[in-house]
Formats: sequence, structure tokens, C-alpha cells
Amino acid sequence: MTDSAAPAWNAGKARAELAPGALFIGGQWTPAASGRERAIVDPATGEQVTQVPDSAAVDVERATATARRAFDEGPWATMHPRDRGRVLLRAADLLRQKAAAIAAVESLDVGKPITFTTYVDIPTAIDLFEYYGTLATSIEGAARSTRIPALAYTRREPIGVVGAITPFNFPLILSSSKIAPALAAGNTLVHKPAEETPLSALLLAQVLQEAGLPDGVYNVVTGAAPAGEALLRDPRVDKIAFTGSTQVARIVARTAAESLKKLTLEAGGKAANIIFADANIPAAIETAIKAFVFNTGQFCMAGTRLLVERPVYEDVLAALAGACPHIPVGDPFAPSTVIGPMAGQRHRDKVQGYLEAARKEGVRVLGGNGTLPAGGGCFLSPSILADVSQDSRYVQEEIFGPVLTVQTFSTEDEAVALANGTSFGLAAGLQTGSVARAHRVAARLRAGIVWVNGWAMLDSAMPFGGCKQSGYGRETGPEGLDEYLQTKSVIVSLG
Ligand code: NAD
Repeated sequence: MTDSAAPAWNAGKARAELAPGALFIGGQWTPAASGRERAIVDPATGEQVTQVPDSAAVDVERATATARRAFDEGPWATMHPRDRGRVLLRAADLLRQKAAAIAAVESLDVGKPITFTTYVDIPTAIDLFEYYGTLATSIEGAARSTRIPALAYTRREPIGVVGAITPFNFPLILSSSKIAPALAAGNTLVHKPAEETPLSALLLAQVLQEAGLPDGVYNVVTGAAPAGEALLRDPRVDKIAFTGSTQVARIVARTAAESLKKLTLEAGGKAANIIFADANIPAAIETAIKAFVFNTGQFCMAGTRLLVERPVYEDVLAALAGACPHIPVGDPFAPSTVIGPMAGQRHRDKVQGYLEAARKEGVRVLGGNGTLPAGGGCFLSPSILADVSQDSRYVQEEIFGPVLTVQTFSTEDEAVALANGTSFGLAAGLQTGSVARAHRVAARLRAGIVWVNGWAMLDSAMPFGGCKQSGYGRETGPEGLDEYLQTKSVIVSLG
């Protein structure tokens, strides 16, 4: 991509594109009952962008009552799936028309480079609406052959009211990966986006309304943990679709158990990226860098644990350390920027805390020495922690920033053991020139998704999700639609 291909946006121009800073309930923009608001801050400058309501339980209850009514009484759940699909396809068209503005707002809100929001986040969201708008036509039951004298068939029905809770790092994509299949299946939603980055959810509400979604089917409540907890407790909510940290996923599972809600939990990760000595080493190094710096390392599937086969270890390490200071860190609206700011002060402080502790403990820290923009932004230069042991917390804990641990191994068995040796199981990858090894190792890695000779290759048709402490359930693909459907058996006596 050339610089001239990127649109000429800046923070000021993006601000003009914001949706109302309000809750979206029953098709209306409305303040929180308490009138309390939260500031939304541009992480590149530290300046306030806007304010949105800080919802309390009473606001969430208003939204869930509305979504319940829309499900029980409205046309959406009983509409033919093809008609629902048409609304999703119209939403995809509108997203395409508004792509530049939505990309700019997402960059302003999260600090993502405009090139990434333009060429990754927005096209992915459009594709999700198109994919599920089309897949809606496949929702159908089946006639079954039974031993009893009956006409027996299954119906695939929506679950009811879905509470969607999303994290700060990929707001638009992770909202779309829930909203699109949930709507295709005929559910209604109350969505609580992350407290720091709610702006694209509010734009999505506008888009869906314009696409013809009936009022009350998609509702947005902005706010923090108390708003999320109110959703978890509300008996009118039938299912929770959560993406966020493993720590909060445990709270979600515990609280939602009270009313036996269905759950999908997309939680944290600490993905291992294995470089075998038989790989195309320059390509593997390039992949390793992208894998840990993409989205400033705020990526659940980031390749933040690099395992390098002993004969090429020192060369790979030297190349990585040499590359770090040259990766452009800066203004998200500059087309050349590869690493934007972290999404907020608390995220940068957490990562810096890990780096300071590592230095104090005598860990070999490389990189971290790139030029950073002056001013109040949450910028960090990518860093490498070399020769760390498998049981160190830098290997075991999700740091969630541009920090890579590097370890070495001598055998394939050792590589697999190291890769599988954390409590997480979201993503993993290997770089190798051997086709046999690629399939052999992919089968042995305990992760929901495995990449061979590349990283972060994702597609709406392919499911993703975790095992172990990375959660359960799948998003995207047909599996992602199944998570929003339940099966009813109808048995008609022929006696
Ligand atoms: P987080 O767990 O702090 O918050 C996620 C969401 O949960 C936010 O909307 C937050 O307000 C809400 N929340 C927080 N406490 C809550 C509570 N007690 N009850 C109900 N809701 C509550 O996560 P984050 O910091 O926003 O995001 C980063 C984390 O998300 C990382 O761990 C990352 O790995 C994970 N993540 C996972 C995936 C995946 O697909 N598995 C994708 C992206 C991010």
C-alpha cells in the first residue's frame, strides 16, 4: 500500500463523524437515568474526544426490557431468515458507503493506525455482515426418520435476548462478529462495548437503524463493569456473548450461572510462534515481528512467545532486536504509522510495569529503543525479552502490549511442549519448510487456531475461539451462527 492510497483524515475531521454520545434503546438516543457520563479520550494525545453515558443497572434494565419485548412481540424473531439476511446485507452496503468515516472514528477511539482500520477493521466488519446475511438463508431444520409413528422434524430457532460484552482492542470487528450472527439467527441484543472504546458501536446502531432493523432489536448501553454485571444478572437475558480477559470471563461464567444463561467466552491468549530451522528465515522473521506488534500487541492472538530452533536462535534474535527501533511508532492518522498508541493510559502502565520488573530482575531486554512522539500519547516502542524461562511470568501471563518473549528449543517435541505449556489455548503458529512437519505439529498444538507460514490469517468463514483458559464457544464461520441458535424437536402423531 502506498501513502497516497490512504485517506487524508485527522482527529479533528474524525470527531465530526461521531454518533450521538448517548445510549441507544428502542431506536432512540437517550441519556443515562443518573445523567452520569464517562470521558472518551484520544490515546494519541490524551485529549477528551467526547462523553458517553455511564450506565447503571437501571439503564441496562431499560435496555433488556426493550430487547425482550422486541423478541417476544416484534417481527424480528419470526421473520423469514432470508428477510433478516437482507437487512444485514443492507447494513454491509451502508458500512461500505461510510467506511472512511467509520475507520477514522475507530482510529480516533482506539489509536489504531488509519491504514489498519481502513484495510483490516472495516473490510472485516463488512464481510461479517455479508457472510451472515448470506448464511441466514441456510437456517433450516431437518425431517428425521423415527421408529415411532410420527412426522418428526427439527426447527432451528433463535435463543432470545443476547447480552454482548466486548473488549477495547477490536471494537468494530468483535461487535460485528456477535451482532451479525445473533441477528441472522433472529435474536435481539443489548450490547455493552468496552468503557474506553464505545464509539463504533454507536455508529453501528445508526447503520443498523438505517438498514431497516426494527427498533428495539439492537440496543447499546455504554459504561463499565457495573453495566456488564447488570446484563449478566438480568433474567430476561438468555445468552451472553463475551470477549475479554480470562479474569473477567471467570466472573461472567460465575454470575451468568445463576440464571443458567448460554455462554460463549472468548478470553485471553498467549500464542506461541515456532520458527523451525528449516523455515524461510527472512520471511519467518518478518512474520514474527508482525505477529507481536500488530495492533500495538493488543491482540488476543498476538504471537507474543517466539520459540526458535537452536541453530538459528542467535541470528533470529539479532534480526528482531535490530528491526524493533525502525518500526514506525506514531500518529494513527499518519499513513506510514505501523504502531499507534496503546488504547489508554492504564494499558500502557501495565505493559511498562512488566518491562520495568523484567529489567530489575536482570532479564535480557532488547529493543524498546525506538523514537516515540512527544506529548501526552500512550506510545511504547516494541521490546524483546530474551532467554526467558518457561515458568517466568513474562511467558505465562498475557502482557497485552508490544512485548515478545524469545526462547529456544532443540527438538520438535520440546517445541510442542513449550508451545502448549501455558494455561492459554487461543492461537499458535509455526514457520517451517516441511509440509509433513506443518500438519504433524498443527495437530499437536492445543489452540483454537493454528497458522502455518504466516500469522493472523483470518476469514469470516473460519471459526475462531479458544481452549483451556482462553474460553469456549466459537465465533465466525457456520459454528459462529450455531452459537445463536437452538434446536426444537416437533413430533406430530400419525396414529
Ligand atoms: P476486560 O475483560 O477487562 O473487559 C472486557 C469487557 O468486559 C468490557 O466491556 C468490560 O467493561 C467488561 N467487564 C469488565 N468487568 C466486568 C464484570 N465484572 N462484569 C461484566 N462485564 C465486565 O478486557 P479488555 O481489557 O477490554 O480486553 C482485553 C482482553 O480481551 C485481553 O485479555 C484479550 O486477550 C481479550 N480478547 C480476547 C479475544 C478473543 O477472541 N478470545 C479477542 C479480543 C480480546
